[in-house]
Amino acid sequence: MTQGPATGAADADGPQSTVEPSTVEAYQSVILSAITPLAPARLELAAAEGCVLAEDVTAAVALPSFDNSSMDGYAVRASDVAGAAQQAPVMLRVAAEIAAGDVGAYRLAPGTAIRIMTGARLPAGADAVVPVEWTDGGVAQVAVYQPAKPGNAVRYAGGDAAEGETLLSAGTRLRPMQIAVAASAGRKAVSVRPRPRVAVLSTGDELMEPGTPLVPGRIWDSNSYMIAACVREAGAVAYRHSVVPDDPAGVLPALEEQLSRADLLITTGGVSMGGEHDVVKAALRELGTVTFRKVAMQPGMPQGFGVIGGGGAGGTRGEGGTRGEGGTGPVPIFTLPGNPVSAYVSFQVFVRPAIAALQGADDLSLPAVRATLTGPARSPAGRRSYLRGVLDGSEVTPLSGQQSHQVASLGRANALIVIPERETQLPAGHTVDVLILP
Ligand code: AMP
Ligand code: MG
Repeated sequence: MTQGPATGAADADGPQSTVEPSTVEAYQSVILSAITPLAPARLELAAAEGCVLAEDVTAAVALPSFDNSSMDGYAVRASDVAGAAQQAPVMLRVAAEIAAGDVGAYRLAPGTAIRIMTGARLPAGADAVVPVEWTDGGVAQVAVYQPAKPGNAVRYAGGDAAEGETLLSAGTRLRPMQIAVAASAGRKAVSVRPRPRVAVLSTGDELMEPGTPLVPGRIWDSNSYMIAACVREAGAVAYRHSVVPDDPAGVLPALEEQLSRADLLITTGGVSMGGEHDVVKAALRELGTVTFRKVAMQPGMPQGFGVIGGGGAGGTRGEGGTRGEGGTGPVPIFTLPGNPVSAYVSFQVFVRPAIAALQGADDLSLPAVRATLTGPARSPAGRRSYLRGVLDGSEVTPLSGQQSHQVASLGRANALIVIPERETQLPAGHTVDVLILP
């Protein structure tokens, strides 16, 4: 790895630093200003699911492209059945039958009906469809018991979208609904930003692989599995690396190994407030391109973000602002704190928007709602708290066990309750912002 010159600004919370913690928003904008969306690629629809559009999708033709029936029934002239009544049905000869997909040129003669199926093209001369339920269902001749107004059960050409209309805008994530729209518009392939490739490493001498016998003094690594899962949930591809020990000489090579295949790197652990065991911080501080700082939040105060690789010191991406296959430009890196809940909250608040920005997506943040606290909530002064909670309708309950290592309560949470910096205590009944967890 090429190392850039030390900037001297790479550590905002050194022992003698008096730097104020960043606000959450200030740190978020530092991150987003360093992220350039990945280059678009043309993918077939099946492969594009979950990716983010890099182009607008417009209707190549009007949707639907022809007038058709919205029900099984009989195509008629409305004037022919205007006098129909239960006691005095109108009798019409059934001249033909049109099924969905039939491309024949049918013409309805006055005083006749044509049997028609849902989605079948309306014959020339017809201006309404009588649903089969309003008739005796006749084959050669039909008794119509109710009048149908002009346009009844007819789907007009362009009634869904006009030709040329923008159906999906660049920046939209292709969920199943949007896949339906693109396919309905006749698109075989779309230009999308591909799923970012994200390498995930956890560091710590105490970490053991789940499934191995536990030795007193050690814990099972949950962060690398959790963050890899968060990455996939955010629409990216995760490469989970095995645990990196607290060996200063091992951290950079482990990261370097990931550079060629990753658009983003995430580490957890090793960024606390100094000390020789904080190996991630120690190793990356040398490069001068990763800044460590405190963010005024809880959990998740110690944060690190910057770029590594690709010629070192730059804060910019490769040519054209994007990394080609095999990656040569600098890669953004997040160094998240090691406590699992801190790592989780940091991911949702900082990494998730960065992954979305790599995709050029417009859904940067978690969805938020306002809800009423069912119990009191506490928060340290001057820091924004993200409390694990259970959101149920318009009420939210803070869970017990809010320390950053308490992963059991994370497993019960479906939301993060946001307590503003200025508050230290909020009573039950107070209205709060709540982030809905994906
Ligand atoms: P650190 O940030 O390395 O000082 O770690 C802070 C706390 O998080 C310590 O209690 C670590 O044992 C714990 N921790 C660090 N990494 C992991 C991990 N991958 N899985 C679970 N806990 C971790
Ligand atoms: Mg550690």
